[in-house]
Amino acid sequence: MYDIEAIRKDFPILSRTVYDRPLVYLDNAATTQKPREVVEAIVNEYYSVNANVHRGVHFLSQQATELHEQARERVARFVGARSSREIVFTRGTTESLNLVASSFGEGCMKAGDEVILSTMEHHSNIVPWQMLRDRKGIVIKVIPINEAGELDLEAFERLFSPRTRMVAVTHVSNVLGTVNPVKELTSIAHAHEVPILVDGAQSVPHFPVDVSDIGCDFLTFSGHKVYGPTGIGVLYGREDWLDRMPPYQGGGEMISHVTFAQTTYEQLPYKFEAGTPDYVGSNALAVALDYVSRLGMEHIAAHERELTAYAMERLGAIPGLHIYGQAREKDAVVAFNIEGIHHLDMGTLLDRLGIAVRTGHHCAQPLMERYGVEGMVRASFGLYNTCQEIDTLAEGIERVRKMF
Ligand code: PLP
Repeated sequence: MYDIEAIRKDFPILSRTVYDRPLVYLDNAATTQKPREVVEAIVNEYYSVNANVHRGVHFLSQQATELHEQARERVARFVGARSSREIVFTRGTTESLNLVASSFGEGCMKAGDEVILSTMEHHSNIVPWQMLRDRKGIVIKVIPINEAGELDLEAFERLFSPRTRMVAVTHVSNVLGTVNPVKELTSIAHAHEVPILVDGAQSVPHFPVDVSDIGCDFLTFSGHKVYGPTGIGVLYGREDWLDRMPPYQGGGEMISHVTFAQTTYEQLPYKFEAGTPDYVGSNALAVALDYVSRLGMEHIAAHERELTAYAMERLGAIPGLHIYGQAREKDAVVAFNIEGIHHLDMGTLLDRLGIAVRTGHHCAQPLMERYGVEGMVRASFGLYNTCQEIDTLAEGIERVRKMF
């Protein structure tokens, strides 16, 4: 049974107040709160294990290395990778995306080659490709969306050319909540013999994501959005691609042998992990993945589907409120505006009621442009949210609406 009251007790921050009101935390797409066991894993590792990994012969270093490498195994199992060699630890989704754009771009793309992105990408899956474009002269093509916020798959097919080298799309939009049909996108890309990267920042925390089932070539996600710590993230990459890609950064850990004349690189995944890794973060991330696995990703998904449906109905009934994103497959995010009320005013006034939502462009300015707005208010849900909290949000919005 999904015992929401017991689950909420695992997250100490949820019992605090803000402006003397119970905290209603609805900014989970930005970052999630942490269960006690994740915080304790960090504290305990620093208190009783801490030592740099991979290099030491001493006991603590070996123990820290074991925790770090076990974490990699657990991440690999969590996303259905064939081998932990396919799991590269990064600082987060942003770094994972920069790594692919930079390294794949360096090793597998030439001037005039093309990458296909979508209108609903987060800036972190746009800007690295633009930087590559400026360095190398690649071409960026963009999949359009319909008014409901769904990808136009026919247009997607038409974007392929003999110069297409990569498709990079988000699994779930951090603004619209649209769940993109990544399995279908993968088969289309592969039919054109093009690899596909799936940005899983907003999917991995919400429902089971299995790279073997999807068939994608790359998957990225952030620890802090899946109830783990900040500063750690993951790049899954198929071994055959990662093998072909040059290192992203140079330094310690990623080398096999160095002379001033020449350097040979470590095997996967270390080739892509220059410098001391966040070994405390990797272990805490694995603890977070264990936590959500214990609850069951299917149960989390079912709970959040209920919340999303309830929020769509409850907020949709508020006069003058427009919801952006009405996709048939939609997950855990509701973005909206109310006629005549600036999104920033709405967010600020909701905050005074103890309700944490996000306002602004949500790092998706091309998407804002698509809808002709400068910003939106966004409520996003996590495994610990409740329908009562959505009631509080709806009542808060009504209260703000009456002030204008
Ligand atoms: N991609 C998507 C879809 C996101 O929602 C986010 C963060 O909001 C990112 C990428 C970037 O994640 P991070 O800031 O953790 O690197």
